[in-house]
Amino acid sequence: MKRSYLIKPLVDEQLPEIAFGRGVYLYGADGKEYLDGSSGAITCSIGHGVREITEAMNEQAKKVSFVYRSHFTSKAAEALAEKLAELLPGDLNWSFFVNSGSEAAETAMKMAIQYWQEKGRPSKTAILSRWRSYHGITMGALSLSGYPERRVRFTDHLASNPDVSAPYCYRCPYQQAYPSCNLMCADDLVRSIRRMGDENIAAFIAEPIVGAAGACLTPPPGYYERLREICDRYDVLFIADEVMTGMGRTGKVLATEHWDCLPDIVVLGKGLGAGYSPIAAAVASDKVMKPFQEGSRVIMSGHTHSGNPQSAAAALAVLKYMDKHSLAEQAARQGQHLKEQLKDMQSSFPFIGEVRGRGLLIGIELVNNPNDMTPFPKHLKAGAKLVELAFRNGLILYPASAGVDGGDGDAVIIAPPLTITIQETAELLKRFKRTCIQFSQWQKE
Ligand code: PLP
Repeated sequence: MKRSYLIKPLVDEQLPEIAFGRGVYLYGADGKEYLDGSSGAITCSIGHGVREITEAMNEQAKKVSFVYRSHFTSKAAEALAEKLAELLPGDLNWSFFVNSGSEAAETAMKMAIQYWQEKGRPSKTAILSRWRSYHGITMGALSLSGYPERRVRFTDHLASNPDVSAPYCYRCPYQQAYPSCNLMCADDLVRSIRRMGDENIAAFIAEPIVGAAGACLTPPPGYYERLREICDRYDVLFIADEVMTGMGRTGKVLATEHWDCLPDIVVLGKGLGAGYSPIAAAVASDKVMKPFQEGSRVIMSGHTHSGNPQSAAAALAVLKYMDKHSLAEQAARQGQHLKEQLKDMQSSFPFIGEVRGRGLLIGIELVNNPNDMTPFPKHLKAGAKLVELAFRNGLILYPASAGVDGGDGDAVIIAPPLTITIQETAELLKRFKRTCIQFSQWQKE
């Protein structure tokens, strides 16, 4: 075996080598075919190996790949910011480009804090967030993340804790049912604001549909309208972390567009570059930008590679491709079909506790006993087992977390490229069904 010096998730793990990708499929160096049922990490929204994108990147590389944002602007970065202003709802018009979702979340936090400084209210510095959430791996973004498994080794370095309940109807933290609950989980934001004092709070951040930390928790109607109203009432900015949900994934450009709720700042990543080049963005509304334009004119943030023309050209080509092929609409259609088929499988496979999500962002929560929704014992690593069996069957699933008490529950996310066809969806379901049969056998052993 050839020695590897590359640190893997398990540092010395043996992982199969990938040779190339085409559309929804990836091909290993050994010839094995994988259907990319999770778009990698919910990233490759337009599929692998799209010629238009690689050609656009090539054209840009022939001109210039990198300029420093303090020295120059570029046609590619300008055009990308303009395209986003056109695509995003309302007055979300001002893009600050970075390289990863975590950096974009950090930039959004910094924008919010500086916004209140510019407005002459410097005490407003705290940022509220929910349990069952993930905003990134850097210390600031991790501080906001309600994802115990990822926090636990770093708690001494995390500046804050999430404080607000997640909208988790399947396991409601208040043991209520919608609509008689009257959205107690949304009103929990009021409790949190009062506890800390609104004069100290800059912003509230949330993923419109919870990704890795909740396997596509989707709030009931009225939830985001209520949150928006609470943020307005207490002068708190609303940051929507759409790193996973944004750019068409849920059937709209932004997932917040499913509700009547316009964020003040949006965090984008993953699908923006669709895996062709690392790029992410914090996009601010006119309202957020105004005090900067009239004040110091400085947003203190940024990285060496912020807004580099190479990544900007890739993302611009991705957005044009999405437009040309109406991929958000396609995600809504195919997602609905896929979700219905997965729900139909619940009667044959009782360990499928809940199927949830929007568009092509579908979460499956696993239960050991469907009657009382008991999770699998933690040591069995049921979610990892399902992912492993699927991988052997040539289907890639994304492991996620669920559960009330610190996320002990098992879950997976199915989120193929938005380009997936009906035939490819049938193939995905075939491989998933085979996996479920094997999982049921494992459960009986
Ligand atoms: N925010 C959300 C909602 C995410 O799902 C992720 C990554 O999974 C991040 C932020 C962090 O993005 P990145 O891994 O690109 O730093």
